[in-house]
Amino acid sequence: MKKRVAVVGYGGMGSWHAEQVRSSDVTELCGIYDIKPERTAAAEQAGIYAYSSFEDILSDGNVDIIVCATSNDAHKDIVVRALEAGKNVVCEKPVSMSLSDFDEMCDAAKKAGKLFTVHQNRRWDGEFLAIKNIIDSGELGETINIESRVHGSRGIPGDWRQLKKYGGGMVLDWGVHLIDQMLILIPEKIKKLYCELTHITNAEVDDGFHLMLTFESGKRATVEVSTYNFITLPRFYMQCTEGTALIEGWNKNCKVSKMEIWKEKEVTPVKTAAGITKTMAPRDALSIVNYEKELPTSDVHDFYRNVVAAVDGKEEQLIKLSEVRRVLSILEACFESDRLGQSILYRDGL
Ligand code: NAD
Repeated sequence: MKKRVAVVGYGGMGSWHAEQVRSSDVTELCGIYDIKPERTAAAEQAGIYAYSSFEDILSDGNVDIIVCATSNDAHKDIVVRALEAGKNVVCEKPVSMSLSDFDEMCDAAKKAGKLFTVHQNRRWDGEFLAIKNIIDSGELGETINIESRVHGSRGIPGDWRQLKKYGGGMVLDWGVHLIDQMLILIPEKIKKLYCELTHITNAEVDDGFHLMLTFESGKRATVEVSTYNFITLPRFYMQCTEGTALIEGWNKNCKVSKMEIWKEKEVTPVKTAAGITKTMAPRDALSIVNYEKELPTSDVHDFYRNVVAAVDGKEEQLIKLSEVRRVLSILEACFESDRLGQSILYRDGL
């Protein structure tokens, strides 16, 4: 039997969840609740039942799973109350605005013995999966450095994301996705962390950040989110011991240059105004192989399939609370590093 889901917060992401739940082979939608009457009206227009209060969802014995898709400041209260009412819970990212809030949410889940997970849906992104596949296959040897960037040009969206009290800013918005992905790509303890926030368009919250991570083995990562770029840098750039991979932007193929011969016989120098350079000259076709890989496809419905299987005790939940906690602790360290203006020797609980 399909699991019955209610969505709290019917904005951009809440309506996306409602559609996912309606079109899934394992879930059906009971309805939504939103504090804004216009969002209730929008749901009803889409043929969706609108509960008149959150309490009505809590007391509806038909509801198996509650999805929390409100602004970030409201997550903790909704999640804890839903768990205390004996519901399973899916919460949007960032799960909370602090580690201490998250720990309270986890305690409530433990007490209730119910499933609690987070919608880290960018684990299904083709660009991330393409880089992950190259690492997993060993095709380019060992990872040396990964750079992951998202660049926009419109500043922070003009909603609650501009205000601190609602959990605004780009560290909490995109940072949580990109850091989550990076910790999967480099599954090692972090040794050192340095982060600078940007405030180009907003003084109150960050409109971007530049994070550098050094891992135990010396592998390095850069995670950058920026919202003021009219020309963008690539989505992913990865240096490995046997080659380099590059994904220039969303939905672009992955370009690979695999090294065939390390020592070249001859290098054709590049002429610049100030003289020639061989060191920085591109390689010739004899010593490397260039090819492109299409992005892997994925099915985001697998998120709810896993949630339902985990509720039934048939699978482990894919988005684990220990992983979510580690990302949150890195977000907190990002703010601390920016405040101190220095790198942090990070105590990784991994
Ligand atoms: P939004 O402003 O479009 O929608 C939020 C809705 O929640 C609004 O309609 C608001 O009225 C409602 N709301 C606020 N407090 C409420 C409460 N206490 N009870 C009921 N309804 C309440 O915002 P959004 O872009 O949909 O973001 C919602 C959440 O989803 C955020 O946590 C955000 O970070 C996350 N999000 C995730 C992704 C993703 O890819 N996983 C993408 C976008 C947003």
